[in-house]
Amino acid sequence: MYDYLIIGAGSAGCAIAHFLNKAGKSVAIIDRDGVASGASGAAGAFLSPLAGKKNPYNSFVNDSLTFSLDFYEKLSSESFIKKGVLRVADENFSKDSLNELENEYYSSQKLRTISSDFKDIEGFFYKEAAYINPSEILHKMIEGCDLYIKEIIELKYEDEIYSADGVKTKNIILTQGVSNSLVDSPYIGLSPIFGLRLDAKTTTKVPFNIHKSISISTNKKDNTIAIGATQQRHDSSEIFCNTSCDKCSFYVDDEKAQVEYLLNKANELIELKDLEVIKTYTGARSSIKSYFPVVGKLVDYNASLKKYPSIKNGTMIPKESLLYHPNIYIINALGSRGFVFAPYLAKILSQYLLENLEIPSEISTQKLFFKYARKKVA
Ligand SMILES: Cc1cc2nc3c(=O)[nH]c(=O)nc-3n(C[C@H](O)[C@H](O)[C@H](O)COP(=O)(O)OP(=O)(O)OC[C@H]3O[C@@H](n4cnc5c(N)ncnc54)[C@H](O)[C@@H]3O)c2cc1C
Repeated sequence: MYDYLIIGAGSAGCAIAHFLNKAGKSVAIIDRDGVASGASGAAGAFLSPLAGKKNPYNSFVNDSLTFSLDFYEKLSSESFIKKGVLRVADENFSKDSLNELENEYYSSQKLRTISSDFKDIEGFFYKEAAYINPSEILHKMIEGCDLYIKEIIELKYEDEIYSADGVKTKNIILTQGVSNSLVDSPYIGLSPIFGLRLDAKTTTKVPFNIHKSISISTNKKDNTIAIGATQQRHDSSEIFCNTSCDKCSFYVDDEKAQVEYLLNKANELIELKDLEVIKTYTGARSSIKSYFPVVGKLVDYNASLKKYPSIKNGTMIPKESLLYHPNIYIINALGSRGFVFAPYLAKILSQYLLENLEIPSEISTQKLFFKYARKKVA
């Protein structure tokens, strides 16, 4: 019998397992394919600030980044490389918007003095950026927790105890990424976007991470580098996308083409000598329209609307009065910044569970619930 059972051993699940375990709770984590087998295993994982004029979303990202950089460095300095990132302007981020964050401007001449392999580019250097080894970090996070490799098909609930394929617990935390949720929650509205990362050998020394619609990492301990896509909105920028949108001009469902795309884009930034792709990883990350992640107690959609049908017409009901799936919580919709968000969100959820601290409204389940319920009737 565990205090908490977490379903999904990706960045979200491992991070909340870590915080609860550190607080002295008994924690189990279940994944059908093991730790870092979903989007988290495919991730870069690049940790970079979000540029642009200050707004609620980039403030949230940058607060998460500050917290997470410190967290990972303390957790496992050997799986963490903090050498900063060079951001090169593109159609999504103009020079003006990149310049909004504290940076050092690197002209093409300056870059050439750092490495003669740089192409004729210029950019903005942010020192608060890092690269982590996702699998090593996630394994480290769940030290002290029990891990089960099982596919959970249903949750049974009796006498205030849940059972997931025989594993018993008082509380469930769903961190399932893009997989179908074990508990019906239509108001969350997750959608998947696929991406690809590759690891490659090169004799080029990449001095720091470089980012322009794709990311190139600095050399890792074994001198290899990673190249990955950042998965911007595919309606406004070029991105490979093999979801269901095969009408979109950026749709590519061929891994070879995706690898070529990444290598061509990388080659516009720096010459990668003696390049040999050694491994590719694909995965789907989940996000919602607002790009904010979602955290908190799961509202029971049907029961809440049955009790308060006027919610559909805009009546405000205090969130404490809504009906909830008993002791079921969620962290999801981490989007393209899963490793930036995960520790910060886990801290927020653990403080809610253990100290009853409020969850910020912009990431709350209730915000999505009210929005969806009202839109449904319109
Ligand atoms: C190619 C790529 C590159 C990326 N690059 C970056 C990056 O550079 N920086 C960054 O911060 N983020 C990046 N991301 C995004 C980041 O990887 C995701 O946002 C994050 O990892 C999502 O974590 P998660 O825990 O929500 O989901 P996942 O990692 O997908 O974990 C969910 C887990 O739940 C398990 N599961 C689901 N249902 C069940 C069930 N019923 N029974 C048992 N197990 C179940 C799955 O097997 C899976 O392992 C990238 C993503 C991709 C795909």
